Amino acid sequence: MKLDMDSIPGGLVLMDAENRVTAVNLTLCNWLKRDQSDLLGRSPAIWMTPASRMYYLGHVLPSLRLHGRVDEVVLTLVSADGENYPVVLSATQRAGNESGYQLLALPMLRRNTIEEQLQQARRAADKAAAEKDQALREVQVLMARLEVRQQELSVLNEQLEQLATKDPLTGLDNRRVFDREITMHLALYNRSNMPFSVMLADIDWFKQVNDRHGHDAGDRVLQAVSRCLSAGMRDVDTVVRMGGEEFAFILPDTSADAAVLVAERKRLEVEALVTGYGNLTISFGVTAVIPDDTRRDLYNRADEALYLAKSQGRNQVCTR
Ligand code: GH3
Ligand code: MG
Ligand code: MG
Repeated sequence: MKLDMDSIPGGLVLMDAENRVTAVNLTLCNWLKRDQSDLLGRSPAIWMTPASRMYYLGHVLPSLRLHGRVDEVVLTLVSADGENYPVVLSATQRAGNESGYQLLALPMLRRNTIEEQLQQARRAADKAAAEKDQALREVQVLMARLEVRQQELSVLNEQLEQLATKDPLTGLDNRRVFDREITMHLALYNRSNMPFSVMLADIDWFKQVNDRHGHDAGDRVLQAVSRCLSAGMRDVDTVVRMGGEEFAFILPDTSADAAVLVAERKRLEVEALVTGYGNLTISFGVTAVIPDDTRRDLYNRADEALYLAKSQGRNQVCTR
């Protein structure tokens, strides 16, 4: 049986010692789309891409001369119509008396395709990773924003709490706090019998301050009286501005008699205040909690005592 070198699926080339083609099979001619006569007598380097040509001349040929063989070198051939044709090339020195070399080239198109697919897969993976990183960064930015919003919200909540519980003119707590505290102290009284007193205070003839000195002066007097009323009170005591020139106190663990002493002291302190807008006096209505009291009962009794103080000539403390 004779080997048919022209139909095997590989390119075969014989070369002389000077790197000139002496024979080439049809398979390789077909890849290169050239006639055998085009290739004979010439260097195989001329059917290669510039990079492959440099590699062939600089490495393949010297290795072949030095070691008598090269194995599985990857080169890219170029066909007559300019198409690249990647091959893996092995070459050996010819046996026997023949000088020169024999080259076998096998196509690498499939391997290239697989490599390209691998590269595509790698690029896709890189892109997905980059997108994931980007998404992660966006989430981090959103989370940082959320944190800032939450901080702003907690500041706003604090401000809201202030607005809801503080009287802006005097800085005292407001009526809301009075209602809350009195409810709490009633519950405590009903459970553990802890007594407490409530006092209402109302500046006497305050309208005259406004009328004589103006509303701004009236405001300053209200601030001065507020400072005076809250000065020296215990931490457990509640002092609020109920509205206008009316104030209220809750004194825990305090009998009516003890509360009257506190009111009397405060009445004298207000009387002694130097406001720059004339003499000032204040009236007090005092009451202590009794069994079955509601919030309203307590407030009404203190208010009746205050009314009594007003009707008996003002600048005094009355109880009920
Ligand atoms: P009485 O001895 O009976 O309590 O007389 P009064 O003048 O103090 O009482 P009245 O209720 O007639 O007047 C209270 C005045 O307080 C009228 C109102 O204009 C004034 N007033 C209420 N709130 C404020 C405020 O926030 N600032 C100022 N400057 N005046 C206020
Ligand atoms: Mg008044
Ligand atoms: Mg009043």
